[in-house]
Amino acid sequence: MFHKILIANRGEIACRVIGTARAMGVRTVAVYSDADVSARHVAMADEAVHIGGPRPVDSYLRGAAIIAAAQATGAEAIHPGYGFLSENPDFVEAVEAAGLVFIGPSAAAIRAMGLKDAAKALMAQAGVPVVPGYHGADQDPAHLAQAAAAIGYPILIKAVAGGGGKGMRRVDDPAEFATALDSAKAEAAGAFGNDAVLIEKYVETPRHIEVQVFGDGRRAVHLFERDCSLQRRHQKVIEEAPAPGMTDEMRAAMGQAAVRAAEAIGYAGAGTVEFIVDASRGLRPDGFWFMEMNTRLQVEHPVTEAITGIDLVAWQLRVASGEDLPCAQEDLAITGHAFEARLYAEDVAAGFLPATGRLVHLRFPQYARADTGVRAGDEISPWYDPMIAKIIVHGPTRAVALRKLADALDQTQVAGSVTNLSFLRRLAAHPRFAAGDMDTGLIARDQEMLAQADAPSSHHYALAAVAALGLDGAAGPLAGFTLWAPLQRQVVLRYAGEVITAVVTRDPAGPWQVALDQTAHAVARDGNGWCIDGAKVLAEVVVTGGAAHVFWADAQSFEIVDPLAVAGQVSDGAGQVGAPMPGLVKAVFVAKGDHVTAGDRLAVMEAMKMEHALRAPRDGIVAEVLVDVGVQVAAGAPLIILAEHDA
Ligand code: ADP
Repeated sequence: MFHKILIANRGEIACRVIGTARAMGVRTVAVYSDADVSARHVAMADEAVHIGGPRPVDSYLRGAAIIAAAQATGAEAIHPGYGFLSENPDFVEAVEAAGLVFIGPSAAAIRAMGLKDAAKALMAQAGVPVVPGYHGADQDPAHLAQAAAAIGYPILIKAVAGGGGKGMRRVDDPAEFATALDSAKAEAAGAFGNDAVLIEKYVETPRHIEVQVFGDGRRAVHLFERDCSLQRRHQKVIEEAPAPGMTDEMRAAMGQAAVRAAEAIGYAGAGTVEFIVDASRGLRPDGFWFMEMNTRLQVEHPVTEAITGIDLVAWQLRVASGEDLPCAQEDLAITGHAFEARLYAEDVAAGFLPATGRLVHLRFPQYARADTGVRAGDEISPWYDPMIAKIIVHGPTRAVALRKLADALDQTQVAGSVTNLSFLRRLAAHPRFAAGDMDTGLIARDQEMLAQADAPSSHHYALAAVAALGLDGAAGPLAGFTLWAPLQRQVVLRYAGEVITAVVTRDPAGPWQVALDQTAHAVARDGNGWCIDGAKVLAEVVVTGGAAHVFWADAQSFEIVDPLAVAGQVSDGAGQVGAPMPGLVKAVFVAKGDHVTAGDRLAVMEAMKMEHALRAPRDGIVAEVLVDVGVQVAAGAPLIILAEHDA
């Protein structure tokens, strides 16, 4: 076994690999960019080497710098994680030429599967069913149109070098073929520098079912299937293992096809053979076709680990260090059912737009596996994939595991960025998903229902008000109400631009009475939770950085506009007005030379989906406006400088 390995990656996958290496007594070296100086994977590793700027091309894609880091630290092998250099055969060759071990397949195996057309031809030769279609070299538009007609509509145009759903177009009508072909080719040329396409039959009611394989370069085994049919824009959201409705017969057929695929290319390490399945008539052994092989560890590998009890990274290290396959096919079995949900910093309603932000509060469920690359206080930066964590649950049956998933999502708390958590909660409760009756179009069909997030209820406001005033018991039962202070206090909360004033009155014997604009509630602490109007509520409230976050049902965040608490902006004596949190500058109302009075609106920022007015801390003259509308700024960034009147 290796003494020391280097992980050529970041985020949750780097942390996950380091965890297993540590459990095996293997020392670890992390690499990091300028944006990741204090990242979790750097903190977890035994050593860390800086490899460049925040852009991936300046750091995590710099193969030579990574190899030099391994040599300088005495690492014997490199684990590539997924993404970045993990499927780059030139990198594999460079690693080997430097006398190091690449923890993964050979460069030749990666090349064989690198282009979808060549991979399909190879698989057809090995007797693996492939999606009917044309994957030849003739790229003449007339020839491709003819091929599409011969296959029969609907068809799918796919970039041979494709990935992430790019360069892919579904065509239902022959009259639209030419336009779709042009746009697919243009997208493929831009994304992959290769505009070649293939034509495939579009499988109706498609399910994405993939098989985990593992090889030692000679033999391969499969570790059963994962169902990844819950997708948005051809990207996976929730994965599970095994696939609902899978029969022993079809599992055996798919498993054998996947093993044939792996053995045909002398595969070493963990890989995934992806199939598209026609679910219109149930799962049948003649209803699956090879799509592509991913020659690396997949994001969703933990569901396979959960049902097999095998640590796939441990197997990767053992096989890469020269051991044979750790077990035979007969030794592998499925126990129970597992789900994984991908928690992202993203704005679902805006079309799953990636988001950024400092995670001012972060808590993962107690009874679930959470693979993450961030801690509370860390930043989701614009440079990399905005995944916050993967939440993985396992149960004896699918129904129990799904209940555990819903519960784990309810217990997950994130503040500081918009996330897809409400979306995941709705998805986990979707009746067709619960019935195991899904296809890759489920999310798109019910997008509107899944993307909506509930507005805060008066209960959310009441809890936020009590916590914002520091009355949530953290500092003792009567904190905030002293003998000489008034028995009534008020706090102004802002949500989506709307302002509500809450008046909280002390009742010496009982709960706080919280009067809102339209209604009133009696609020008290009850153990670790709360009691509202006499009923127990399993809510938690966290106050950070001028906001109150209520974690209950769909979590809600309120800006606290109480002048006694947080003024809602950062300013210093010299008259510098800064950004109170990372966000977007939406409007600037002043220009250099303007006279302003204390309290005047100077600018508006948008953060956490809320508009936030920045006001003049005192009278003065605008000496400098340092930002423009539309600019994304970091917390504390100076925005406007005020000079004294007579300056
Ligand atoms: P990429 O490499 O760009 O991710 P894939 O070939 O893996 O592309 O396909 C991505 C997704 O597109 C699949 O998971 C599936 O949802 C859908 N898809 C691909 N091929 C077909 C097909 N022939 N019929 C129906 N859906 C398909």
